Amino acid sequence: MGFKHKYFVEPDSKLKLSRFNPADTGKYKDHEVAAAETRHHIARLQKLQYKLYAEAQRSLLIVLQGLDAAGKDGTIRHVMSGTNPQGVKVADFKEPTPIELAHDFLWRIHPNEPAKGQITIFNRSHYEDVLVVRVHKLVPKSVWSKRYDRIRQFEELLSENGVKIIKFFLHISPEEQLQRFAARLDDPDRNWKISESDYTERELWESYTEAFQDALRLTSTKEAPWYIVPSDRKWFRNLVISKIVADTLDDMNLKIPAPKIDLEAIRRKYHAAKIEQKQDEKQHVVPGELEEGVKAD
Ligand code: AMP
Ligand code: MG
Repeated sequence: MGFKHKYFVEPDSKLKLSRFNPADTGKYKDHEVAAAETRHHIARLQKLQYKLYAEAQRSLLIVLQGLDAAGKDGTIRHVMSGTNPQGVKVADFKEPTPIELAHDFLWRIHPNEPAKGQITIFNRSHYEDVLVVRVHKLVPKSVWSKRYDRIRQFEELLSENGVKIIKFFLHISPEEQLQRFAARLDDPDRNWKISESDYTERELWESYTEAFQDALRLTSTKEAPWYIVPSDRKWFRNLVISKIVADTLDDMNLKIPAPKIDLEAIRRKYHAAKIEQKQDEKQHVVPGELEEGVKAD
């Protein structure tokens, strides 16, 4: 069974995250075979991105969500390592600014949608407005509960405009999260990643789980699917995401466009220019350089 099928969240399902093992590694026993396959998918991704860019008709939006230390940054670093920066953008969504808060919740999101030919990764997203906002009661239920419909409609609008959307929930266990927090404490190079809120948010694990369950089941659609990615093992997470991203692009049947110009006419111009250049070279030759010039031809 392919990852796309195995980890897809059925729309409107009765989703229980506790039924999904965050340490699942499928048929893979260790990271070696998985890493080789991940490299293969990253290489595929590179070729497919070239086609997406050349076609310039459609785009790809990758949404990453997960609790603190779930691996959103690491996913971007690994999975996108082979892509051409010219066609990729990462949009980070932090706590809204006062100006952002003075608008509707999609106001800051919409300008970040990928342009045709581009890939955009959302590192956190509009989903924060039904996750952290719901858990911390930043707005009343009457406000956040309407947002699932608004999100589905918004994503439908993007889909209709050629944006292929895929959404990944990086699923980790509380034990793995604590270990990652420890690693951040022990490694001076990673101290900067520690945030005051890490431990207070951790205490709200159950509320976050409920909020994620609703967000995933209410907004997973065929056009904008959610995938639950077992993320306790970073190497497996990278394999699953790189394969789903590459497969998604593959399924888009991207085509390098046929040239709009008359190639034969351009070829004739090229040959004429080439002959002209040769004649120029002969005229400008200084004694002694002639032999070199002839040889180089
Ligand atoms: P980080 O991604 O670790 O740099 O943290 C960004 C923080 O911004 C997280 O704690 C998010 O929950 C928070 N955040 C992002 N979007 C929103 C939002 N719409 N409302 C409130 N907090 C948010
Ligand atoms: Mg954080």
